[in-house]
Amino acid sequence: MARYIGPVCRFCRTEGTKLYLKGDRCNTEKCSFDRRNYAPGMHGKALKGKASEFKQQLREKQKVKRVYGLLEGQFRLTFKRAAVQRGVTSELFFRALETRLDNVVYRMGFARSRTEARQVVRHNHVLVNGKRLNIPSASVKVGDVVSIKPSSLQSPIFASAQELFARRSQLGWFQVDGAKYTGKVVAEPKREDIQLPVTDRMIVEFYSK
Ligand code: SF4
Repeated sequence: MARYIGPVCRFCRTEGTKLYLKGDRCNTEKCSFDRRNYAPGMHGKALKGKASEFKQQLREKQKVKRVYGLLEGQFRLTFKRAAVQRGVTSELFFRALETRLDNVVYRMGFARSRTEARQVVRHNHVLVNGKRLNIPSASVKVGDVVSIKPSSLQSPIFASAQELFARRSQLGWFQVDGAKYTGKVVAEPKREDIQLPVTDRMIVEFYSK
């Protein structure tokens, strides 16, 4: 599946908020958004004024898309699948995004960013219920056990994992055993667990046109 490999700090500057796309770097003085808090490009500083309703909806959608690191096609498809299910579309949509394997690996503290988590999955470091799974978009269900392959633990990627476990805020829908590099999904993620400051309604309206 194609993925964006260009610079990402410009996304934070475009959205006017920190999206935390680069792991530890986001909390240092190297953060581009902290140093240049305006949109990128020659006219970035001049881009002010009230946004139209469409633009507000577009920006909310783009924020979520950037946070999860998806391209438009994948993102739209995830929304469409959520929209045809019974229930609150925005809840189902965020649940589908949160339960992607790459996101679960990131949430459990096995990677510093979702980009790194995707790489960890792609490079065959992850087991789900004891079996190798290298598809970042695979959906993880309640009861699934996600772990790092024991032979992969020598990789430098996991050198800081123990420290990450300690720092990462634990969410209610999974339990992690840091010493064993294992986590279990114990519930469906709820919207309030996700702590993403976007207006869900605007994303639903954007795709409902
Ligand atoms: Fe955004 Fe992180 Fe880059 Fe700062 S360092 S601009 S928070 S991606």
